Amino acid sequence: MNPDDGYICYIVNPSSGKGSTNRLVWGLREYLQLRKFDVRVSFTKSLEHAQQLGRDAVADDKCKLIVVAGGDGTIRDVATMMINSGKPLLPIPGGTENLLASELGYDEKLATLQEAFEEGYAVDYDLCTAGSKVFASIAGFGFDAEIVKRLAMSRSGNIDHMDYFWPLWRTFWTYKFYPFKVEVDGELIYDGPCLVFVGNLSRYAMGLHVLKNADYSDGLLDVCVYKCKNHFVFASQILMTILKMHTGISSVIYRQGKKIKVSAIDGNSASELDGDPGPDLPFEIGIIPGAVKIIAPKGKKPSGIRTRFIRMFQ
Ligand SMILES: [Mg+2]
Repeated sequence: MNPDDGYICYIVNPSSGKGSTNRLVWGLREYLQLRKFDVRVSFTKSLEHAQQLGRDAVADDKCKLIVVAGGDGTIRDVATMMINSGKPLLPIPGGTENLLASELGYDEKLATLQEAFEEGYAVDYDLCTAGSKVFASIAGFGFDAEIVKRLAMSRSGNIDHMDYFWPLWRTFWTYKFYPFKVEVDGELIYDGPCLVFVGNLSRYAMGLHVLKNADYSDGLLDVCVYKCKNHFVFASQILMTILKMHTGISSVIYRQGKKIKVSAIDGNSASELDGDPGPDLPFEIGIIPGAVKIIAPKGKKPSGIRTRFIRMFQ
């Protein structure tokens, strides 16, 4: 991209910034301005406002690139407005985890962002649908939906990893292992107590390889069902997931498909989408292949468990 092509829309979520994020956000803007690019900054006031800013940027022909600084929720909400627009999105990782940016190979270095911008390499990123909602990374049913629900009830403003600790701890010990019914492209693959994950990223929170074969541009959804009815089985499945060996054990079902339906059997119908509370079950999850072009650092791998653990304490 050249400065004469048009301007850069710079959408910033001011509440997802820690020190390292702010360095990236303002460091990249300074870099672009030194290169004579017209950078127009807008701050989001809510996720709905982020959508509006995305919609406006897509509608304006003079806007040639949309930079989004924020967590997974902000990036997803802007990306949703950009479906099939052909305009590229450049994400600046912020928020607690930023699964999407990490999967694309972004780290917390300004040089990585600058190189990605200069190279202009864009991936065709599939977005997922859940009923009438859109999500960009992973949907969870059962244990993690319960954690997100608890966190949402106690949440006040920006969150960090430690805010997850007590909801996670309490949910682990009190969780009832609710039954769900899971169908992949019309075939019933499981019906019973389980944890279910559906999505498009190979790394989940803390870099865990829950959907280890997921590819964000293959037009398919990956599904992992942990058949689990007590804490002992659950603990062993967590260990096998950390060791990246969970898909080889008999209590885990791993599939790919284009339409995934998850139903609650006994009324526990909570879901989470991209770490936010999702709609109540049942609903069908689908995929929009190549929905949005996202600029990514070429040749970089997703960050793993070790990198993310170190990042937690930075
Ligand atoms: Mg996929």
